[in-house]
Amino acid sequence: MLMQDTKQAWSEFLQLIKNKTSPLEFQNWFSPIQLLETSDSSITLEVPNIFLQEYLLENYKAELTSLLPTKSNGDPAIDFVIKAPEKKAITKSSPKNGEKISEKPPQFEVKLNHQYTFSYFIEGPSNQFVKSAALGVAARPGQSYNPLFIHGGVGLGKTHLLHSIGHEIKTSNPRMKVQCITTEAFINDLVHNLRNKSVAQMKRYYRSLDILLVDDIQFLQSRLNFEEEFCNTFEALINQNKQIVITSDKPPSQLNLSERLIARMEWGLVANVGIPDLETRVAILHHKADKIGLKLTQQIAFFIAEHIFANVRQLEGAINRLSAYCGMMETELTQEIVESILGEMFQFIPKKKITVESILRSVSSMFNVRVQDLRGSSRARDIAFPRQVAMYLAKELISESLIKISSSFGGKTHSTLLHSWKKISKQLESDNTLRKQIQMTKKNLEA
Ligand code: ADP
Ligand code: MG
Repeated sequence: MLMQDTKQAWSEFLQLIKNKTSPLEFQNWFSPIQLLETSDSSITLEVPNIFLQEYLLENYKAELTSLLPTKSNGDPAIDFVIKAPEKKAITKSSPKNGEKISEKPPQFEVKLNHQYTFSYFIEGPSNQFVKSAALGVAARPGQSYNPLFIHGGVGLGKTHLLHSIGHEIKTSNPRMKVQCITTEAFINDLVHNLRNKSVAQMKRYYRSLDILLVDDIQFLQSRLNFEEEFCNTFEALINQNKQIVITSDKPPSQLNLSERLIARMEWGLVANVGIPDLETRVAILHHKADKIGLKLTQQIAFFIAEHIFANVRQLEGAINRLSAYCGMMETELTQEIVESILGEMFQFIPKKKITVESILRSVSSMFNVRVQDLRGSSRARDIAFPRQVAMYLAKELISESLIKISSSFGGKTHSTLLHSWKKISKQLESDNTLRKQIQMTKKNLEA
């Protein structure tokens, strides 16, 4: 590579990054870099601090190596020079000892989402414990669990709970200084202040808080220098009994962070937010539908909740899609519409092959009747009814012709099967007990 080419390659790199990042990110991370020297085989960059050097190598190594000269080991051949600190001009306004310093809130502050409150958070067995811990912290900040560490998979309500704590404290203690921040924003804040040589001011600001809410701490992993500053802030606050709440996608012990920080995070209470069970998912669907004025029958809510089960954000997305569709088409919601609009969102657990035989066995144990009676022709209600349930399930779960299925029921006709299916489908609209029995039988079949 010729020297001129190296220079050109650096501009190309910057152009590439400019297209990839937000203007704010570009301004923070890339504008401060100065190109000092180029040669055919290397490039010298001046950076304001070690953080920037680390950031560049950690996040853009592939782009750097593809455009710039490389060393024999494949690393980009960059010599970094850390910019010498400028001498501070002594100004008359510099604070004297003991003088109150006005602290600026961080540039990257996160506003609390007004929808994320405790009253909008639907409770169920998977999140009861963590919700009551969050309520406890909000009622007695700094005095119950400190820190409170909330972990769980994506879209399960961690941020929602974090903001709920913030709202609750702001309402009941308006004088408390509450700061909610994502880990990404904390890092950006630190970089911004390093650049502007105002880290001391930033430290003072964070250490003057009463409540610090930190979202998604997993983003601090492998950011060694930032981790140390976070840990110092953390300790300073906890030592003054200031409340800290942290969310993460993993429990502390599984995070790739220093032992010191992990131990600190385990000091208080570690609580998990889990995947909501079927009933809670149904309650969430009703809640979200009510909020946007979508009419949702119990049967359709169950149908959606049975197929979308991993994540509350997806449930919310499903309701929004259905509402948009029904609004546009001016129609009521039906199961067919749900299937066609949400089909690709539906999650299917790989199923065991379901046969009439296995259905008969499950129904027989659920309703406590013998398989041979289900196959027989007794019209006694305690036998005929479970038989109709078995026929309903067979038509729902087995994709073979009705004639073939009905013949496996001891030679019944396909119109008997159809009649049973219709009867049970109708009864399901109003009979909660039957719905539960059928759900359990299905679960049993698929387990
Ligand atoms: P996470 O931070 O765990 O990824 P969020 O808190 O962003 O998840 O939740 C995703 C969406 O689901 C949000 O809109 C939130 O309001 C909603 N949500 C999650 N759990 C619940 C719940 N239990 N009740 C009501 N809404 C919930
Ligand atoms: Mg979140």
